Amino acid sequence: MQIREKLAAKGYRMTKPRQEIFNVLCHAPQSVLEIMSNLQKKKLQIDKVTVYRTLTSFVKLGIVEETQFKDKISVYELADQKHHHHVVCDTCGKIEDIELDENLLEEAAKKSSTFQIKSHHLEFFGLCRKCR
Ligand SMILES: [Zn+2]
Ligand SMILES: [Zn+2]
Ligand SMILES: [Zn+2]
Repeated sequence: MQIREKLAAKGYRMTKPRQEIFNVLCHAPQSVLEIMSNLQKKKLQIDKVTVYRTLTSFVKLGIVEETQFKDKISVYELADQKHHHHVVCDTCGKIEDIELDENLLEEAAKKSSTFQIKSHHLEFFGLCRKCR
């Protein structure tokens, strides 16, 4: 479903800030600070309160997912993506999406527990190119 339809279905209008924040999030998972700086790079004047408010409604509407990493900084990314994982930079907090071949991992988890495994959460930490 398009974002415009998703908003409309819940009685929200598509506004310029909403559209622009959505566009910025299409490229990569980002923290509020990164979203702000990407909006500024595009010469868009959207204040922090609006960004927070927009993200909160996007999360509520299921358009965006919020994840907290170990330093408690929230990162936002579009919700309907293929299952994937993240690498997080220990120094600057930059995040990248990665896809893994997970068959072995799932098999191992099944074999070594008595649980019926339904989901998992896995992150990798290290140093990004800039911080090395
Ligand atoms: Zn996975
Ligand atoms: Zn870094
Ligand atoms: Zn992601």
